Amino acid sequence: MAAYTFIDHKYDVVVVGAGGAGLRATLGMAEQGLKTACITKVFPTRSHTVAAQGGIAASLANMGPDNWQWHMYDTVKGSDWLGDADAMEYLAREAPKAVYELEHYGVPFSRTEEGKIYQRPFGGHTTEFGEGPPVQRTCAAADRTGHAILHTLYGQSLKNNAEFFIEYFATDLVMSEDGQCQGVIAWKLDDGTIHRFAAKMVVLATGGYGRAYFSATSAHTCTGDGGGMIARAGLPLQDMEFVQFHPTGIYGAGCLITEGARGEGGYLTNSKGERFMERYAPTYKDLASRDVVSRCMTIEIREGRGVGKDGDHIHLHLNHLPPEVLKLRLPGISESARIFSGVDVTMEPIPVLPTVHYNMGGVPTNYWGEVLNPTADEPDRIAPGLMAVGEAGCASVHGANRLGSNSLIDLVVFGRAAAIRAGQVIDREAPVPELNAASVDKAMSRFDRLRHANGAAPTAELRLKLQKAMQEDAAVFRTSETLKQGCERVSAIWQEAADVRVTDRSMIWNSDLMETLELENLLPNAITTVYSAEARQESRGAHAHEDFPDRDDKNWRKHTLAWVDDAGAVTLAYRPVHVDPLTPEDSGGIPLKKIAPKARVY
Ligand SMILES: Cc1cc2nc3c(=O)[nH]c(=O)nc-3n(C[C@H](O)[C@H](O)[C@H](O)COP(=O)(O)OP(=O)(O)OC[C@H]3O[C@@H](n4cnc5c(N)ncnc54)[C@H](O)[C@@H]3O)c2cc1C
Repeated sequence: MAAYTFIDHKYDVVVVGAGGAGLRATLGMAEQGLKTACITKVFPTRSHTVAAQGGIAASLANMGPDNWQWHMYDTVKGSDWLGDADAMEYLAREAPKAVYELEHYGVPFSRTEEGKIYQRPFGGHTTEFGEGPPVQRTCAAADRTGHAILHTLYGQSLKNNAEFFIEYFATDLVMSEDGQCQGVIAWKLDDGTIHRFAAKMVVLATGGYGRAYFSATSAHTCTGDGGGMIARAGLPLQDMEFVQFHPTGIYGAGCLITEGARGEGGYLTNSKGERFMERYAPTYKDLASRDVVSRCMTIEIREGRGVGKDGDHIHLHLNHLPPEVLKLRLPGISESARIFSGVDVTMEPIPVLPTVHYNMGGVPTNYWGEVLNPTADEPDRIAPGLMAVGEAGCASVHGANRLGSNSLIDLVVFGRAAAIRAGQVIDREAPVPELNAASVDKAMSRFDRLRHANGAAPTAELRLKLQKAMQEDAAVFRTSETLKQGCERVSAIWQEAADVRVTDRSMIWNSDLMETLELENLLPNAITTVYSAEARQESRGAHAHEDFPDRDDKNWRKHTLAWVDDAGAVTLAYRPVHVDPLTPEDSGGIPLKKIAPKARVY
C-alpha cells in the first residue's frame, strides 16, 4: 500500500452531508455550542435538496381546517402501515414548529393574500382521517422550495460558526473494536490530502441512492454513500425493498415534474384522452398516493393505452390552467418541460413516465436519529456515536411509501431532533475518542486497492449494468421470477466489481476514483434492495409483488434488516414495527382505532 499521511481533526460532532438534513442537524448542533464540522462532497447548496420543488408538509391550517392527527393518519396510511407510530407522531406534531422555525430563519415562502405561508394540495394528504376532501398542507416557495430551504440553512449554519469541509469525500467510518463510531475518513478532492476526523458523534446525512437505477429524478451524486459506509461497518440497512417511483418524471430525461403540478389542478390522460385515475381512485383521482398513481400509469401502458408513437408513456395536462397560475406557482417546471421535452405547458401536455425518486429504506434509527444495531432480543439497540438523518436514514416515518412533501419535513424535523439528542448525550468535558488504528488501516487499504485497481471492467460499464438490472428487475411491478433474476444479476455484478479498472492513479480531482468509490456504495444499497424485495412475499406500498398481490399483516408487518459482508453475501432478519404512538389516546394522542390497519383505498 502507498504511504498516506493524515491531517487530523477533532470535533464534538461531524455531520457527513450538507443537504437539508445535514444542514439542519449542523445548525442545531452549532447553535448549542457543540464544536461541529460538516463534510460534503459537493458544495452545500448543490446537494440534491436544492432540486426539491413542490414543498414541505405541516398542518398549519392556513388554507382551511387541518391538524397534526390528520397529518399523522395520512402518513400512517401512506406508509401502508409499515411506518413506526412513535416516529410518525413526532413528525406530524413537530412539523408546524419546524416550518415556523424555517420561516424565522428566513425561508422566502410564497404567501396568501393575508400574508400567511401559502399551502397547496399534495397526493395522499386529506382531512377527517381520510374521509374528507384533500387538504392544502404543503407549504411552498413557488416550485423551488428545496432551493429556498437549503440556501437559508447554509447561511444560518455559517452564522452559528459551524465549520464546513467542502468537496471532501467521506470514504469510511472509523469504528472501535466494540462497535462505537469514533469518526470518519475523508479524501479532499482538490488537493488529494487524507483527513481523519475524530468525533464524539458522527451524523450520516448523505441522501438517497436513486442512482442505483437507470432512470431517476435524483442527482448523479445520490449514490447512497452513507448506506455503503454502514454496510462496511457491519451494520444493517432497513426496508430497502421500498423504492418510490414518482408518477411524473419527464419521459426520456427523467427530470421531475412536481406533484404540485397535480396539486394545482393538473391531470393525467391515456391515449384515448381519458382521465384514467378516476377509474382507479374515485375519491382522490390524480391526487392518490404516489405508488398508486405510478402503478395505474404502468397498467395503462401495459394494456395498450400509453401515448406516443411507441405507446410507452402518459400525458400530464397543465394547459387548462390559467397562465398566471403557471407563472406564479410553477415557473420552474414550466422551464424544465420546455428544456427537456420541448413542450410549452400552456399549450400542450407533458410526456411523463414513473421514475425512481426516493428511497424509503436506509439506516435504521429511532426518532432521535440514533442509529440502531438490532439483535433478536434487543430490536431497538443503539449503535453508540452514530446518527443518521434525512433520506439516508429510516426512522421509519415513510414505511412502505412516502407521501409527497413529507421528505422535506422529515429532513428538518429529524435534523433538529438529532441536534436536540446530541445536546443531551454528548459529554462536553470528555475527550474526543482516539481512532482505532485497525479500522483506519482497513479503510485506507480499500481506498488504495481501488486507486490502483487494474482489472478488466471500467467503472462506468459496471455501473450501467447495475442500473439496468435494477431498472428491469426491481421495478414498479415485481414478480418472484424478476426478483430472483435481479438477485443473481446484482450478485454477479458484485463479483465482477472485484475486477474493476481505474485508469487515473492521481490523488487530485480524480473523478475516476471518486466514481469507483461511489459504485462501491451503490452496490451494497442495490444488493440489499433486491434481496429484501425477493424475500418479502406480499404487496405493500411501493413493493408491488404480482405473485403476492395482497398485503399480509399477519406475516409481513415487520421491518426488513439486511446485512451484506465484504464478499457480497446478504443476511436478512426482521424487527417489529412500533405500533404504539408516543402519546396515549387518553392524554390527547391520536385515537388508536383510527390508525389500526385497514384496506388502503384512495
Ligand atoms: C427532483 C426532486 C424533487 C423533490 N421534491 C420534493 C418535494 O417537493 N418535497 C419533499 O418533501 N421532498 C422532495 N424530494 C425528496 C427530497 O428532496 C429528498 O429526499 C431530500 O432532499 C434528501 O435530503 P438529504 O439532506 O437527506 O440529502 P441530499 O440533499 O441528497 O444531500 C446529501 C448530502 O450528502 C453529501 N454526501 C453524500 N455522500 C457523501 C460522501 N461520501 N462524502 C461527503 N459528503 C457526502 C452530499 O454532498 C450532500 O451534501 C425531491 C427529490 C428530488 C430528487
